[in-house]
Amino acid sequence: MIYLDYQSTTPLAPEARDAMMRWLDGPDGMAFANPHSPHKLGRLAKAAIELARERVAALLPPGGRIIFTGNACEAINLAMRGSGSGGSISISSIEHAAVSETATALGGAHVLNVSSEGQCNTRQDLPDDCRLVAVMAVNNEIGTIQPTIDWHRKAKENNALFLIDAVQAYGKIEITHADMIAISAHKFHGPKGIGALWVRDGLELQPQITGGLQEGERSGTLSPALIAGFGAAAALAKERMAGDEQHVEELWNRARDLFDGWELNGSDTARYKGNFNIRKDGLDVARLMSECRDVMFSAGSACASGSGRPSHVLKAIGLSDKQAKSSIRLGWGRYTSPDDIETAAKAINAAAKEQEKWG
Ligand code: PLP
Repeated sequence: MIYLDYQSTTPLAPEARDAMMRWLDGPDGMAFANPHSPHKLGRLAKAAIELARERVAALLPPGGRIIFTGNACEAINLAMRGSGSGGSISISSIEHAAVSETATALGGAHVLNVSSEGQCNTRQDLPDDCRLVAVMAVNNEIGTIQPTIDWHRKAKENNALFLIDAVQAYGKIEITHADMIAISAHKFHGPKGIGALWVRDGLELQPQITGGLQEGERSGTLSPALIAGFGAAAALAKERMAGDEQHVEELWNRARDLFDGWELNGSDTARYKGNFNIRKDGLDVARLMSECRDVMFSAGSACASGSGRPSHVLKAIGLSDKQAKSSIRLGWGRYTSPDDIETAAKAINAAAKEQEKWG
């Protein structure tokens, strides 16, 4: 089995697993305490959470706080719903459903266009009543990097807040300018079921989950195990950022050679190189996937695949329905080997060639 679906989720890092196990079945068998309890065991669990909070924050801008959430969808909902009401929301046309569906639920969004290269530039106006702008850092489907520093400046000039969905960017590229940043542990070798919202100091949010308000603006007992894994994955990402980037680039260069004859979707340069979204005219992607069962990859985004609808991201960069439906996404990272890429390319290219031969 070859796993090339890193945008969907990533393998748990052994270091993150070790950090979690301490809080699942600690050596003294007493690691189950509620981190919000004031007794000694509770305080020990709380200390683990605070260490993880520092580790997660170390890859985000100074001058903000971390609110732990159940996942990035929840973080994005808290940001979009909790940061105000009235006024309009502007989002790029390639946002994840976490942002676009929340905007729809809040009354609809003003949509910012992207170029055929998959970039959302700031040479477009925001509505006068805009209260919030959301532009993701790295797109989940095509990997293109967005000019978030420019969008932060533009939002500020319009007295609007700026939210970055940094789910695909955290630990890979630096995120420096925002009012709110949403992230998710399972996209960088942490566990599933834990995310966070970074909020700039001075910005108050209206809680969306009420109760004990253990996280200030979010209620619910925190999970020391999930959060310790999150923190360990963040520390590891920080430590290995340059090495991971180089590794991913080497795999990219290899893939570019091996997938000769395929068209790349999105910019070749302004991108994260662990995301490879390519197309071949006339390709039957469902058939290709069933013929390459030992390679885990995706048709469009994991969320949209299976829906039968062409990807909104591929449509936004100008692809026809047919071209969008003949696209596949391969995603790799830290634990992918050059051999994995070679073997996958062999299988995929052979299956695609067979289709060309027989139609
Ligand atoms: N935003 C982007 C860009 C994503 O890729 C995803 C997950 O696929 C999410 C948000 C939602 O993340 P989570 O699974 O933590 O809710």
